[in-house]
Amino acid sequence: MTEQLWTEVDSYISGLFAPDDAALDGALKASVEAGLPAIQVAPNQGKFLQLLARAIGARRILEIGSLGGYSTIWLARALPADGRLITLEADPKHAAVATKNFATAGLSDKIELRLGFAKDTLAQLAAEAQDPFDFIFIDADKANIPAYFTAALSLSRPGALIIVDNVVRKGRVIEADSADPDIEGVRAFNELAARETRVSVTAIQTVGSKGYDGFAVLLVNA
Ligand code: SAM
Repeated sequence: MTEQLWTEVDSYISGLFAPDDAALDGALKASVEAGLPAIQVAPNQGKFLQLLARAIGARRILEIGSLGGYSTIWLARALPADGRLITLEADPKHAAVATKNFATAGLSDKIELRLGFAKDTLAQLAAEAQDPFDFIFIDADKANIPAYFTAALSLSRPGALIIVDNVVRKGRVIEADSADPDIEGVRAFNELAARETRVSVTAIQTVGSKGYDGFAVLLVNA
């Protein structure tokens, strides 16, 4: 099996289940035009995240890593009329593109983008003692996933879902002696999650237009 076949199958699946959409397609086009890296989730993955958020009736969503706001739009569309999504982004250029994309998608009233390093903005959120989140998507720098997971856990309600992207990394996750900070970050997170009694967790390998990777899915125990 090749990446080309995975990509063709992804197109087939997305064509059926996540078909063309002006706001989402426009967000991708604006991101490409602004020179952002094409490292957003695939359309069928965005739909997967949206279905999970809808399935648990999420009213408050937190995203760590906005890029151009592609996954943010998928997730914000899972929210009820009074729902809210906070997305955290460190790069001002990415934040500017995302903010424009939210406006074009008609979602500015539901989405708040906080600019800054996620460790800082997460600490800010904790200090504000807002209502807990129902759904948290972790998709920023991989070396800091353990810290983001710890923060996410303390910001979520029992029954919340936490999804972590890119936990397989083309299979490199099994390289126990890797000195790559991304691999070290993912492995440290996996070990932390496996030990953590407040969550039930698994990870699923994925292939497709984004190559070979995977999601971790964590349910915060009631
Ligand atoms: N979730 C997005 C999507 O699927 O459409 C993709 C996010 S992209 C994989 C990762 C983003 O995290 C980038 O925009 C990057 O600038 C941001 N990022 C990296 N390190 C960060 C940090 N320390 N704090 C906040 N954001 C960070």
